[in-house]
Formats: sequence, C-alpha cells, structure tokens
Amino acid sequence: MRYSQLLLPTTKETPAEAEVVSHQLLLRGGFIRKLTSGMYTYLPLGLLVLQKVTEIVRQEMNNAGAQEILMPMVQPGDLWKESGRWKKYGPELLRFQDRHARDYCLGPTHEEVVTDIARKELHSYKQLPVNLYQIQTKFRDEIRPRFGLMRGREFVMKDAYSFDVDDDAASKSYEIMRDAYYRVFERCGLDFRAVEADSGSIGGSYSHEFMVLADTGEDTLVTCKSCSYAANVEKAAIAPPAEEAVIVQDLPQMEKVATPGTKKVDRVAELLQISAKDIVKTMFYLADDVVVAALVRGDRVVQSVKLKNLLDADDVEPVAEEEVWSRTKLPAGYLGPVGLEMKVVADHEIMGMASCVTGANEKGHHLQGVVPGRDFTPDIVGDLRQITTEDNCPLCGGALGLTEGIEVGHIFKLGTGYSESMNATFQDNEGGEQHFVMGCYGIGVSRVVAAAIEQNHDRNGIIFPVPMAPFQVIVLNLSLKNEGTCKAAEDLYLNLKQQGYDVLYDDRDERPGSKFKDADLIGIPFRVTVGKTYEKNGEVEVLIRKDGTTAAIPYPEAAEYVGQLIQKGLT
Ligand code: ATP
Ligand code: MG
Repeated sequence: MRYSQLLLPTTKETPAEAEVVSHQLLLRGGFIRKLTSGMYTYLPLGLLVLQKVTEIVRQEMNNAGAQEILMPMVQPGDLWKESGRWKKYGPELLRFQDRHARDYCLGPTHEEVVTDIARKELHSYKQLPVNLYQIQTKFRDEIRPRFGLMRGREFVMKDAYSFDVDDDAASKSYEIMRDAYYRVFERCGLDFRAVEADSGSIGGSYSHEFMVLADTGEDTLVTCKSCSYAANVEKAAIAPPAEEAVIVQDLPQMEKVATPGTKKVDRVAELLQISAKDIVKTMFYLADDVVVAALVRGDRVVQSVKLKNLLDADDVEPVAEEEVWSRTKLPAGYLGPVGLEMKVVADHEIMGMASCVTGANEKGHHLQGVVPGRDFTPDIVGDLRQITTEDNCPLCGGALGLTEGIEVGHIFKLGTGYSESMNATFQDNEGGEQHFVMGCYGIGVSRVVAAAIEQNHDRNGIIFPVPMAPFQVIVLNLSLKNEGTCKAAEDLYLNLKQQGYDVLYDDRDERPGSKFKDADLIGIPFRVTVGKTYEKNGEVEVLIRKDGTTAAIPYPEAAEYVGQLIQKGLT
C-alpha cells in the first residue's frame, strides 16, 4: 500500500478524551475514530489489525474442529424469555420493539440463538460433538464505556458454543478450546495468563479467563510464586481460618463509645487506640434491589463477586455513601451489625474475632466489646473478602503475587442450563431424549487489539507484535527528488509485496523527521530507509521497532534480510 493513497490521519496531540495509552495511540495513529460513546469506526489501519487478529482466531478455531457460522445480531426477545434472561440480564441488554410491537434485543452474546439452532438441527448423539462459532459485532450497553476499544458498547467478539452428549465429553470440548486459546494468544505474540474465573451472568459451573498482562488492566490476578495457581481475585478462594477455642470467660461487655468525626476505619482505630484488625467494617450493597450488609475485618476489602455468589443474586452493587441514609435511615460511616434489620453476610474471619468494634448505627458512635455470635448473628457466613498477598496459595500454601490483566478471552462450562430452559435435546444411543451439555467460549477480538498496545508501546508509539501488525514492514523513501532512490525504494516495495509480505511504502512528500515519527507511532515492526546512504554507498538502513537497533544492509540483500526478520517475528 502506498502511504500517499492511504487514509491514515495521524496526529501529534494526545486527545483529551483518551485516558489509557491504547486509546490515545489508536486515535493518534489514525486507526479508529469515535462515532459516539463506545462506538468506533475502524479506519483502514485499524481494520487491518482487526483482520490480523480475526484470521489467527479463525484458523485456530478451525484447527480445533469448530465450524464457523454467522448468527443475526438482532435477536427475538421470545428466545430470551424462554431462557429466563430477558428479565435477568441487566440494562447492558439493549431491548427494543419492532413495528409490530414485538420485543427484540441487540445480541450481547448468543447462547439463546445457538441453542435454538441446536434444538432444531441436532437430533442424534451421532451428530455430536458440535462446536459452532462466529466472529461478529456484539452490543452491550455498558454503563461506562471507556478506554476506546477496551470497553466499547459495540465490539467484535468471537463466540463459540459446544454441544456434547455428557459431562465428560463436554470437558473434552472445553480442554480443546482451552488449548486453542493458548495457541491464539501465543500466535498473537502476547504475554498472557489463563486464570480461574467466576462464571458471571452467563451461568455455568467452571470457567477460565485469558488475561493479557498490563498495568492498565481492569482485572487483578493472583498468581502463586511456587505453583501454577492463577486466579482472578474475584474468584480466588480463601480457606476459613482454623477454628480456635473461644474463651467463654472474660467476654467483654458491649458498650457504646462516642467517636465523633470518625467515618473511616483508620480514624476509629486511631481514636480508640486499636488496630484496624479489631474493627468490623459494615458495607451496604444492593443485591437485586434489596439492601444487604456485608461484614469484613477493618483491614480487608469486600469482594463483591463473592458476595453475589454467597447471596445467589443476579446483581450486586455497593450503595453509594450519599444514598445510605435515604435508603436505610442509617448514618454512613457508623454502620454496624448489632440490631440491624436486614440480611447480613459476614466473612468467616469475623466469626473468629473474640470481640470487636463496630459502628453503632448512630451518628458519631461506635460499639466496643461486641462479640460476634453473641451480639449479632449473620444470616450467611462465608468467603467474602478479597485475597491479598498476605494470604497463602489455596493450592500449595506458597506466597502469592498480584498482577493487573486485561480479560481478552473467557471460556465456560455451561452444563445443561440453557438446553433445559430451552428444551434442547437429542436422542442418545438408547433412544432416550437427553439435554445437550454445553460450553461457551468468547474472545474479545477488538479488545485484543487494545490489549496488545497496552502491553507493547513506548513513548514514540505502538510496537506491534509482528503477527498483529497492520503492515509488517514500512519502506521509507527519503529522497523523492532523486530518481535512483525513488526507483530503488519502489522496487524494494514491489519486491517485498510480491513475496507476500504486508508492506507500506511511504512515498509522501514529507520531511524525514515526520516520516520516522509516523512509522514509530503506528508501530510497524520493521522499517527500511532508502535515502542518503543509498545514494552514497548503495546501502539501506533496517530498523527493528521493538529494540531500536539498526543495520546498514547492501541494497541487493535488503529484501531477503527483511523477509527473514518478518519470518522470525511470525513464529
Ligand atoms: P468484562 O468483565 O470485561 O465486562 P465480560 O466478562 O462481561 O467482560 P464475556 O461475557 O466473558 O465478557 O465476553 C467475552 C469477551 O468479550 C471478554 O473476555 C472480553 O474480551 C470481550 N468483551 C466483553 N465486553 C467487552 C466490551 N464492552 N468491549 C470490548 N470487549 C469486550
Ligand atoms: Mg468474562
């Protein structure tokens, strides 16, 4: 492709709307343009990158035996009513009606549609296993679309769905997909980890997320320093503390103390000369629109996904401090479980505290000498707090580390939830009707593009891994006025193109400085400069974007030299 003919509007300024580096560089590099909140147009360069990822995903899905289909993006509400998700799925599901006042939605995921296909087209165990996938635009009306391609409302996903005769066979399908996912992200050239994950609103019994490691990731992963354990903190289990014999004598009296202006745990600890570990923190959450209280030790953090699972709720959100009073007539900052008239969920650590300090549900007051089990009894006790690096690995007891990651893929064992609710069955080898055992497997194809940039960039721009780069090599012609240089640059471009490489030829009438800057910004892995040294001694300069190293190569060897670099970068 000739740069002079390409719609590639690069800019110097960092756009104010872009907080994270991938968003900034995708805008500055002319890859994408925003249409409206959470929706982007892919300009030529952006589409090229998206297509590179798509192709890797497609090849690995096909290699794994999955079959590509394409389902409609608009889905009838009736199917969602059958599965029970029409009501259950939150406002991310964009619901609307057609001219006949029939309900529809934009597909955020396709379990319902694919289960409908299975129940109509798959009749016998002889047809199984089947894995159907598509690569398609999804719509989720995200509450906070942000970070460009990272969290859009419209985004490209590869979603696959497996149908098996029983749980063992479904486990095999799951393993095949897991292996394929490893290959996809390895081939993309990304540094990633597969972690145990929560199953979320898709429902199901078992799942793994694939996380690209990057500081800007919205997810936190916990990894063991001694064994292979890795999990999303949402999921990472903490065993209950060993039971200690409770000393029955010497139980303190519960008493109210004045603690004016101490809404925060640290201030209470300071005032009462105790440790945060002696305080019970009470947090209010809205669980499916009902206020519940969550209790953890003062130095701990409530893990809301664990809370959601303990309550078996569909949705759990913290109650904002400003809303605590209007919803409960209790003062934020002074909440406590004693005499509280709502469902109380406590971390199991709480029940091991001999006595504690809690809010008194009265402004400016706390209770001390509170004995869990005597002065209050939670409705549910379980694993509620978020794991920390002070905890031990749940598998081997080793030390843990925390890393940030970006979720680029998620695989689930679904079981028979959808096939039962939608009555999708096949005939088994004894003539009986059985429900399909399902799995579903997503890759955020467009998010992979953003994640790759978050992980691979420097202050000059993007450093694409070779397999994802829109062009593998850029040829710069620095002497447009010199006929010999022009011919050499043009020939090199055509030669590389003919060999099947993706080449961008910078034939623009621009200063060398801005050509170098643009090449760096858009992240082309290899750059060949044809300029003064070619005129002088017949050499071109080859630069490797990743490490900035350059080599002077005699012109006749340049094409082969660059070809070898690309080949190496692709494996
Ligand atoms: P998240 O927790 O980031 O909201 P999710 O768990 O809801 O994602 P899944 O239902 O697992 O998402 O969807 C499969 C994949 O689609 C995710 O692993 C992610 O890579 C991608 N994805 C999900 N939501 C978005 C989005 N709003 N924008 C871009 N990609 C997304
Ligand atoms: Mg997910």
